[in-house]
Amino acid sequence: MDVLRREVQFLKGVGPRRSAFLKRVGVSTVFDLLWYIPRSYYSRNQVQNIAELEDGQNCQVKGTVTAASLKRSRRGMSILQVLLRDSTGVATAVWFNQPFLLDHMKKGQEIWIKGKVKAAYSWVEIHVQEYDLMDQDSINRPVIPVYALTEGLTQKALRRLMETVLSEYLPHYPELLGEEMARRFELVDIHQAFLNIHFPADRTAYQKARRRLACEELLLFNLGLKQFKASHQTQRGYIHREQDQLVEQVKQQLPFQLTAAQQRVCREIFADMEAARPMNRLLQGDVGAGKTAVAALAVAKAISSGFQAAMMAPTEILAQQHFNSMTRFFHGLNRSLALLTGSTGKAQRQEILTAASNGEIDLLVGTHALIQEQVRFAALGLVVVDEQHRFGVRQRALLGDKGISPDILVMSATPIPRTLALTVYGDLDLSIIDALPPGRKPVQTVFLKREQRFKAYNFMAKQLATGAQCYVVCPLIEESEKQDLLAAATLYEELRDRLAPGFKVGLLHGKMKAAEKAAIMDSFKGGSIQVLVSTTVIEVGVDVPNASIMIIEQAERFGLSQLHQLRGRVGRGERASICFLIGDPKSPEALRRMYLMTRIHDGYRLAQADLSLRGAGDFWGVRQHGLHQLRVADLARDSDIVELSQKLAQGFAGLNPWQQDYFNMKFKKSPHIAAN
Ligand code: ADP
Ligand code: MG
Repeated sequence: MDVLRREVQFLKGVGPRRSAFLKRVGVSTVFDLLWYIPRSYYSRNQVQNIAELEDGQNCQVKGTVTAASLKRSRRGMSILQVLLRDSTGVATAVWFNQPFLLDHMKKGQEIWIKGKVKAAYSWVEIHVQEYDLMDQDSINRPVIPVYALTEGLTQKALRRLMETVLSEYLPHYPELLGEEMARRFELVDIHQAFLNIHFPADRTAYQKARRRLACEELLLFNLGLKQFKASHQTQRGYIHREQDQLVEQVKQQLPFQLTAAQQRVCREIFADMEAARPMNRLLQGDVGAGKTAVAALAVAKAISSGFQAAMMAPTEILAQQHFNSMTRFFHGLNRSLALLTGSTGKAQRQEILTAASNGEIDLLVGTHALIQEQVRFAALGLVVVDEQHRFGVRQRALLGDKGISPDILVMSATPIPRTLALTVYGDLDLSIIDALPPGRKPVQTVFLKREQRFKAYNFMAKQLATGAQCYVVCPLIEESEKQDLLAAATLYEELRDRLAPGFKVGLLHGKMKAAEKAAIMDSFKGGSIQVLVSTTVIEVGVDVPNASIMIIEQAERFGLSQLHQLRGRVGRGERASICFLIGDPKSPEALRRMYLMTRIHDGYRLAQADLSLRGAGDFWGVRQHGLHQLRVADLARDSDIVELSQKLAQGFAGLNPWQQDYFNMKFKKSPHIAAN
C-alpha cells in the first residue's frame, strides 16, 4: 500500500504547482488519483451533425474552430463565443464566465462539445456543458473520459497523468477479493476495473468496471463496520428479568393506549433485553410516531430488573423535555430520576455523579454530557440514544462503554430503506414503528414567496384568537451565530410589536441559559406564550401538542430532512395543523424542495425523493458515516450492489492489517470508524 501513498507531486510532469491544483479536487496521492473517477465519457462516434440540431435538444458535436471572441454582457458576465464548423454546417458554441478558455480556441483546433441547443431561423447556438480539445490521445481512443476540473487543470494533462499512474502504479494495487469469490459473483479483477473506469474499452467493460469498484467501496465499508462492531461487542450482556410491576404501572400512566406498532416494537426490544447477548437495536419511526413512550417502557423494564438506565438526547431542550415526560410517566412509583446537561451547576453535578455511581439514580437523562469520562454507573443496564442521526457511531460506543455491556437502543426518525440501513447502521438490528398514533391529520403545507409572508401571519393572528399556538422558525446560519441571534431577535420584535399584537411572544435560541430555555418552553407548553420565535434549537423532538401552526422563514435554507423534522412539531394534537414555508428559493433544487414538502407528508417518501434529488452523499445524516466518500457506488440506485457487498462481507473474518490500512486510506475522513 505504501507505493500507492506516494504524493502526486513527485509524479512525472506534476510538480508543486499542478499538485496544488490537484489538492483542490481532493487528490494528493496516487491512491486518490486512481479513485478520481471520470465525471462522464464521450465517444467520438456518437456525435450529431450540426445541420440536424434542433432547438432545446441536448447534443454532442465535434467540429473545427473557425473563429473565437470574448464579450462582456451588461451585467458583467464574460461570454466566450466560438464559431464551430463540421462537414454539415456552422454553430456558435457559447461558454459563460470562462474567459481563460479563449487561449485554447485557436483557429483549426478540433473540439468536441456537449451542451444544449438554442436555435432560431438559421442561427444555431450551443450552450456548452462539457468540452474537450481533441488531440492525438482522443483520436486514438474509442471512449474518452471527462474529469471534473478546476482552473489550472486540463483534461489532457489529467488523462496523461492517469495513463502514467495506471501503467506504473496500478500493478501494485492489492486485490481484496479472492479469485474464487470474484468468479462466483462475476466481478472483474481490480486492475481491469480501474483500467476500464478510466479508459473503457467499450460499454460492457465500463459497466463491469463500475460494478466492481462500487462493490469494492461498499465491501470495504461493510468490513470496517464489522470490525468496529466486533471490537465493541463483548459477548456478555445483562439479562433483564423484571422483579416487579413497574412496566405495567408506567404503561398505566401513559396518557394513551399504545398502538399495535408500538406494542410490536416493545416486544422486539424486550426480547433482546431478556437475552444474554447485549442489545444493539435501532428504533426507527417517523416524526411523531411515538418513540418516547416505547423508550419509557424499555427504561421501566431495565429499572424493574434492578439496573440503571441512561437516556441521551442531542439538545438540552430535548433532554429537559424527556426528563419532564419521564418524571410524569414514573410519577408516584418511587424511582429516582435525574437530569445532567452541560449547564447543570457544579455542586449539583457532583451530587448526581456520586449518586449515579452509587446506584442511587435509576434513570439519568441528559445531553452528550452523559458520555463524559467522570460519569460512572453502578450497574448500567440500558442506554437509550434519541435522534441517533445527531450522534456518530463513536459517541454511541462511548456511552455503551459505561457499563459492562449495556443494552443499547438508538432511536431515529430518519427513514432509511432496509438494505441501506444495513450498511449505514450495519452494527444494529432494526425495529420500525410503521404507523402513526390514531387521529393524526397530515399537516397542510403551503409555500409562500417572501413578499406574501403577511398572508401566513394574518392567518396566524386569526388562529391565535381561537386559542391556537404557533412556532416561527428562522434559520441558523452556521458561519455567524451573532447574525442568527440578530435575525431571531428582529423577527421576535416584529412579531411582538406588529404581527401578533395582544399575544404573548417568546424567543428561544441556542445561546440562552438552560434555565431560560426551560422557562420559555414551559410557558409555551403551558399556553401562557402563544407564539414561539426560535432558531432551529426546536428542530428535533420537541412536543407541544396544542401548537398547530409552524411558520418557517427562509425555508429555502433548510434541507428536506430538517424541514420535515420542523414540520413534525405540529400536527400532534386535535387541531388541524398548517405549515408555512416562506422563502425565496434561487436554485431549481431549492424550489423543488419546497414543492416536495407541499406534496409529500410521509417521511419515508420524502427521504426517497431527497435521495434522488441530491444523491446519497447528503442523504439524511448519512454524511457523518463517511458514506459520502463513495466515489462510484450510488446508494440510491445500486441497492443490488449494496446487497452483494453485504453478502461478500460475510466471507471475511474482519480486517487484517493491510486491509485496515486500505480502509483507512479510502475512508480517511471517518475517524469514528477508522480510529478503531
Ligand atoms: P417521536 O417518535 O417523534 O419521538 P413522540 O414520542 O414525541 O414522537 O410522540 C409524539 C406525540 O404522540 C406525543 O405527544 C405523544 O404523547 C403522542 N403519542 C405517542 N404515542 C401515542 C399513542 N399510542 N396514541 C396517542 N398519542 C400518542
Ligand atoms: Mg422524539
